[in-house]
Amino acid sequence: MEKKNIDWSSLGFGYMETDMSFVATYRNGAWEEGKLVKEHTITMSECACVLQYAQTCFEGLKAYTTEDGKIVCFRPDLNASRMADSCRRLEMPVYPEDKFIEAVEAVVKANAAWVPPYGSGATLYIRPFMFGINSVIGVKPADEYQFRILVTPVGPYFKGGAKPITITVSDFDRAAPHGTGNIKAGLNYAMSLHPIMEAHRNGFAENMYLDPATRSKVEETGGANFMFITKDGKFVTPKSDSILPSITRRSLMIVAEKYLGLTVEHREVYFDELKDFAECGLCGTAAVISPVGKICYKGGEINFPSGMDEMGPVTKKLYETLTGIQQGHIEAPEGWIKVIE
Ligand SMILES: *Cc1c(COP(=O)(O)O)cnc(C)c1O
Repeated sequence: MEKKNIDWSSLGFGYMETDMSFVATYRNGAWEEGKLVKEHTITMSECACVLQYAQTCFEGLKAYTTEDGKIVCFRPDLNASRMADSCRRLEMPVYPEDKFIEAVEAVVKANAAWVPPYGSGATLYIRPFMFGINSVIGVKPADEYQFRILVTPVGPYFKGGAKPITITVSDFDRAAPHGTGNIKAGLNYAMSLHPIMEAHRNGFAENMYLDPATRSKVEETGGANFMFITKDGKFVTPKSDSILPSITRRSLMIVAEKYLGLTVEHREVYFDELKDFAECGLCGTAAVISPVGKICYKGGEINFPSGMDEMGPVTKKLYETLTGIQQGHIEAPEGWIKVIE
C-alpha cells in the first residue's frame, strides 16, 4: 500500500478529506447495515434535530503506525462505551459497541494510505459522531440518526517539544452539577467557544473550569482533564460527576500506579491546594499530556516549581511511559493496543 504524498511532519490539526468515511443510518427503530462511502458531505432538512436542538455527540481517537509497521488504535473499546453513555443521556440510539469497533477498523483500513508513517509524529485522527437527522420542530428526540466516522491526518501536537503553557481560571462554568459535563456532547463545546476565545484574547492557552456549585474545586478544561503531582510524588486527579471521563487520564492513573509505583488519588481537588503541587498537566488524546507551568486568576498566579521551560520530571516519566506503551516500546496492559489487521 502506497502512502499519500503528504509532508506528515508539517501537518497541523486541521480537517482534510480522505478516501472513505463510514456511515450507518438508524431508521424505523433499527440500525441499518453500515457502509464505507466516498461522499464527505451531508444533505439534510433545514429542520433537522441536530440543527435545531443540537442532538449530537462525538468521540475522538487516533490510529498510528508502530515501529514494526503495524497500524494500531489505543483502547477503542473505551470510546465505544463512552459514546454509548453519551447517546443514552441524549436519547439517541446506541450504536452497538462491537459494531463501533468494527467500523473503526473498517474505516482505518480503507484509509491505510492516510495513516502517517512511524516516526513522523503525525497520526490519523478518528472522529466517530452521531446526530438526529430528521426534521423536528416540537422539542423531542429525532426518529432518524446517522452514525458516521470521518478520519483525517493530523500533525504532531508538539512541534519542537512540549513547552509548558499558561492557563487562566474561567469566570464561566463548563457544566452544571447534574448536567451533561460527563458526556461528549457537542453542546458542551458550543458553550465553551466564547470562554476559550476570551482566554486567547487575554493571552492564555486554556481555561480551568471550577465546579459551578461552590467554585472552590477544580473540574477540567474545555477538552482535557487535569493531573497534578504533589511535592512528595503522588499523582492527583480531580473527581466529579461533571467531568468528562478522559481515556488518557484513566490510562495515566494505571501507568502511574502500575508502571511508576506512584500513589494515585482520584478525589475532589480544591483550588486552594494547587499552590502546594509540584507539577500540573492536561490530559487528552490530542497531546497525551500538555504541561502547565502557570495558572493566572483574579488576584494572583500560581507558578509550579517545574517552571516554564520543560515538563516536570514526573509528568515527563508519565508521558514517556504512556507514549512508549502506545508506540509498542513498552509492554501494554492486556487489551490496550488494537491492531488493525
Ligand atoms: C474528549 C475530552 C477529554 C479528553 O478525553 P480523552 O479520552 O483522553 O481524549 C477531556 N475533556 C473533555 C471535555 C473532552 O471532551
